[in-house]
Amino acid sequence: MIKSRTDAEVFPLGDGITRINEYDFANCFLVEGEESACLIDTGDGICDLPAILSKLTDKKITVLITHAHADHVGGICRFDEAFVHPLDLKRANKYAKGIWRAYFLFCHRYKKNKHGVSYREAFIKPRRCVLKTMKEGDAFDLGGRKIEVYLTPGHSAGSVTLRDTLTGTLFTGDNVNPMVTLQYPGSAGLKAWIESAEKTLSLAGQAPIWGGHGGEAIEPRMIRTAIGFAEKLLKDPPKRRGVVTVQGEEKYPKLVARARRS
Ligand SMILES: [Zn+2]
Ligand SMILES: [Zn+2]
Repeated sequence: MIKSRTDAEVFPLGDGITRINEYDFANCFLVEGEESACLIDTGDGICDLPAILSKLTDKKITVLITHAHADHVGGICRFDEAFVHPLDLKRANKYAKGIWRAYFLFCHRYKKNKHGVSYREAFIKPRRCVLKTMKEGDAFDLGGRKIEVYLTPGHSAGSVTLRDTLTGTLFTGDNVNPMVTLQYPGSAGLKAWIESAEKTLSLAGQAPIWGGHGGEAIEPRMIRTAIGFAEKLLKDPPKRRGVVTVQGEEKYPKLVARARRS
């Protein structure tokens, strides 16, 4: 029997928002209202999130998933219920399974990271999670603040951006990150991503934008640069098929896409 871990790092961001980082990788966010709270993404399931959350709040928690990749949806197996966009529903069921969590860990060489997370830990015994759907225009009322749902396809077809009405903060999952990845199966392609990235910028205004990875909020400048890369790829697609990477002089941002899939 594998003992579940509770050593994920917790960073209060102020205004009732907490970032929970699962072993230097995916971010989860707890947003607390006056009456209830919500958890945005569940990590890859290695961490015993319910145990960590119980130390942070005693309010009822609604689980919302930005997109159905194993490092965000893997932890739903620890909850009774979660919300995901219908376009990512099928993958959410698939990627929450132990084999995909282990594959994800393998890809990211968790075995060697400072936290010493092993592949075996991906195979926790899942609790049955009922997946419900959420769509553009939905809002989850937490009391004194709401979490609004916006469909922002690109990184996956059912990627959503969640907006906190109290602070304006956006939670973009992986659709907007320093490294934009559009090469995975289920991606909505370059054109859709550009529209979504522009929508994200206009939704954000001056408010913070938090992605699914990294310890800092995303600067709008990074998003604009990545949009420029995507437009360049659309206008002048590479001759060969396959995965292409576009990168500026700086280390980030970077855009990875599948050629001729847009
Ligand atoms: Zn992802
Ligand atoms: Zn991710």
